[in-house]
Amino acid sequence: MKIASKIVHAGRDKKWTGYSVNVPVVRASTVVFDTVSELKHATAKRGEQVPYYGRRGTQTHFAFSDAICELEGGAGCALYPCGAAAISGALLAFLQSGDHLLMVDTVYEPTRALCDKLLKNLGIETTYYDPLIGAGIKALIRPNTKVIFLESPGSITMEVQDVPAICAVAKAHNVLVMLDNTWASPLLFKPFAHGVDVSIQAATKYIVGHSDVMLGTASANEKYWPQLREASYLLGYCASADDVYLAARGLRTIGVRLAQHQQNTAQVLAYLQQRPEIARILHPSLPDHPGHAEFKRDFSGSNGLLSLVLKNGDAKAVTAFVEGMQFFKMGFSWGGYESLVTFNLNLQSIRTATVWPYAGPVVRLHIGLEDPADLIADLAAAFERFNNTLAS
Ligand SMILES: *Cc1c(COP(=O)(O)O)cnc(C)c1O
Repeated sequence: MKIASKIVHAGRDKKWTGYSVNVPVVRASTVVFDTVSELKHATAKRGEQVPYYGRRGTQTHFAFSDAICELEGGAGCALYPCGAAAISGALLAFLQSGDHLLMVDTVYEPTRALCDKLLKNLGIETTYYDPLIGAGIKALIRPNTKVIFLESPGSITMEVQDVPAICAVAKAHNVLVMLDNTWASPLLFKPFAHGVDVSIQAATKYIVGHSDVMLGTASANEKYWPQLREASYLLGYCASADDVYLAARGLRTIGVRLAQHQQNTAQVLAYLQQRPEIARILHPSLPDHPGHAEFKRDFSGSNGLLSLVLKNGDAKAVTAFVEGMQFFKMGFSWGGYESLVTFNLNLQSIRTATVWPYAGPVVRLHIGLEDPADLIADLAAAFERFNNTLAS
């Protein structure tokens, strides 16, 4: 089946949907049984997709998990109340006191904070590594290294990792590979086909696609799925049926949305490349981007997220840039239908294994589904405010 058809049909088995097109929203804590034998059957099968107790999920959850597995390729998919919970849930499923974790230096900042605070307090040691390390990761593996965590492209700076090279080394040392695959969504990069063991999505982003739900997923291959599922249950992670319904609904249009985000972004990039204020544009589709060769090799497309490194500028000038935009709203997250802007004045503060070579501020844009001409005009006005402030 081609991908566009898969997106429309994934997870929509009649056993979940009944007579409707979409799976119903089934809200439940208690699942009621008529006979002791039914109760016993559900108890025996409670780790599988059988109604047992609300925390284990209803058909709404089962249909969505199935859809993610069909699209991303895992053997099973656990649901979490947000992406950050999927990350903590996946890490806690496989790490214990005394273990060593290799974490990419360009990781989403809250993941770094989790390692530096909670995991450290649990006696789990983290070493950060250069996202471009590739097979060189071998030198960092210790006898107690349990997990190598990747995020590709990396947060804010978007370096693309050589996932197959890292996975090959990890396999040879019996180390589990975990990937935060949020940037790619389940469509643009196939984690399990590239050797990843556990793949994480902040479904909050492109899967939900409408900026109105927090949701996370963690999928695993056959080998690691039972342990991931059990840990997610023991930790008490579950997601609301209403939120899962909205994610399943958003998923049906992810293909056309991503294609449009990508097309709009190409037009905005062409404009930005002419701006003299920019030292560097960070987007994996650009030929000079770190990891572009791996991006071309392993990804089937790109999305609407990009960062700009400005040649110079201070907090005041950046404030003038981001305040007063018409379409780019200021705020965290991305992956919805709308354009967004955020900024970072000190990128080195969230990097420890690598040296960030630029002094200027970084502005991150999410290119939404507005008309690119309007977005470009909005950016032109922002640069004018920025320049006027610098000059004053
Ligand atoms: C947003 C994000 C998360 C966290 O997801 P939430 O749903 O906001 O908790 C994790 N990883 C990446 C790469 C993200 O962009």
